[in-house]
Amino acid sequence: MAGMFIEVTVDAKVADDRDLARKLDEVCPVGIFDSSGETLRIAEENLDECVLCDLCLEVGPKGAVQVRKLYE
Ligand code: SF4
Repeated sequence: MAGMFIEVTVDAKVADDRDLARKLDEVCPVGIFDSSGETLRIAEENLDECVLCDLCLEVGPKGAVQVRKLYE
């Protein structure tokens, strides 16, 4: 099943910030952040494409975006 090995979470204050949501959408090379709606959507269908580049972690306050591997 797609998206079962990576979990991406974004604090609500970042998800609701249009500029930060757009930045996340721009930096992620595999389209995991969708800023086209009113609030940021995590594109669950793309989660298994995450390359763990950590570019999203640079957007917003420290710890606001988290990418977790659910495997070793
Ligand atoms: S680590 Fe890279 S590929 Fe994964 S969600 Fe963040 S920006 Fe996208």
